[in-house]
Amino acid sequence: MTWLDIKDSQFGLEALPYATFRTAADPAPRLGARIGDLVLDVAAVTGVGEGGLDALLAAGPAVWKDVRAQLTRLLSDPASEADVRPHLVPIEEAELLLPFTVADYVDFYASEHHASNVGKMFRPDSEPLTPNWKHLPIGYHGRSGTVVVSGTEVVRPTGLRKTPDGIVDGPSIRLDIEAEMGFVVGVGSDRGTPVPLTEAADHIFGITLLNDWSARDIQAWEYVPLGPFLGKSFATSISPWVLPLAALEAARVSPPERDVPLTGYLDDSALEPWALDLALEVRLNGSLVSEPPYATMYWTAPQMLAHMTANGASLRVGDLFASGTISGPDPGQRGSFLELSWSGAEPFKLDDGSTRTFLEDGDEVTITATAPAPGGGRIALGEVSGRILPAKERR
Ligand code: MN
Repeated sequence: MTWLDIKDSQFGLEALPYATFRTAADPAPRLGARIGDLVLDVAAVTGVGEGGLDALLAAGPAVWKDVRAQLTRLLSDPASEADVRPHLVPIEEAELLLPFTVADYVDFYASEHHASNVGKMFRPDSEPLTPNWKHLPIGYHGRSGTVVVSGTEVVRPTGLRKTPDGIVDGPSIRLDIEAEMGFVVGVGSDRGTPVPLTEAADHIFGITLLNDWSARDIQAWEYVPLGPFLGKSFATSISPWVLPLAALEAARVSPPERDVPLTGYLDDSALEPWALDLALEVRLNGSLVSEPPYATMYWTAPQMLAHMTANGASLRVGDLFASGTISGPDPGQRGSFLELSWSGAEPFKLDDGSTRTFLEDGDEVTITATAPAPGGGRIALGEVSGRILPAKERR
C-alpha cells in the first residue's frame, strides 16, 4: 500500500512504468516513474537515471531490481513521505520525451491470426501462412531514427504506388496502423554469442506500446523481394512509458499450442511460459475499434530475441524489437485497419456514425493496454497516440 491517495488507479505500486521527462522548472531530462497521475523523479530519490532511462537500461538486472525495490519502499513507507513528496510532479507538468535512445529496431510478425489474415488477402490462391512461418519468427530490420514518442504528429507519407492507370508518386491513400508491443533491450550481447531462451530476461528490460504506421499502397508495390522499406520507415510511435518485466509476473501465460516441432534454440516447451496476457484497446478519434489480445501471439519475446541473435548478431543497449501486429481470432480483435476493413472492402463504423477503411488526415489513433496485477485487478501500460497531418508537396 502506498501513502499516496491513488486507490482506483491502474498506475499503483504493482505497475511503476518508467519514462524520461523534464519540466519547465528543471529542463534537464531525467528518469521518472509513474504513480497515479504523478511522476516521481527517480534520479532525485535514487541517484540512478541522470539523463533518463538510458542510464538504468545499461545498469543491468541487479540495478533494475534494486531501483524498483527502492521505489516500492519509498512510496509505501509513511516515514519516507516528507522526503519523497517534493520529488513528485503532476503528470500535466511533465514533458514526456522519447524514453530511451533507440539503437537497432527490429519488427517481427508473431501473430498467427494477423499473418493468416494478410495471407488470405494478398495471396488468396495459396496457403495463408508462408511455409517458414511456424519454423521461425519472421522479422525485418527497421529504422530506429524515425521511432518517435507518443503525441508526435505523423505526416502522411508520399511515395510510389501501383494504380490501374500506372505507377503514381503521390500521398499514400491506404495509410494504416499496426497495434504492437515493443520490447526494450537493456543489456547488450557480444557479437558471435547468441542469446539462449533461458537468458532473455537478463537482456530484456521491459515493454512499451508501439504503433507501426504503415502505408499499405507503398508497401504493396515495393516489398517484393526484400520486404518492408519506405512503407513503414517514415514513423514508428512508442509510448513514453516502459513497463519493466518485473511488473508482468502475473501476466505470464502459456503460448498457443505449437503444431510444428521447434528447433532446439527456439524450443520453449520445457521452460517457464513467456506468453503475456495483455489486453490492448485501439481507439480512432475516441471510438473503440479493436481489442487485440496479446496472449494469442504464437512467438514469445525470448524466442524473438533468441532468433535475432541466432546467427551471432549482437545486441546493444536500447535495441527495440516489436511483436508485429497483434490480432486475435475474432474480427473485433484485429490490430490493423487493413484487417478491420478487410483490405478496404468492408468499412468499419465509428461512434459518430462515420466509417473508415484507412486513415484520413486529422485522424488520431490511441492504443492503450492493461495487464493482470499480482493479487487481482489490472495494471496499465500507458498509451501511444498519434495524429495524421496532410501530406506535403514533394520538393
Ligand atoms: Mn509491424
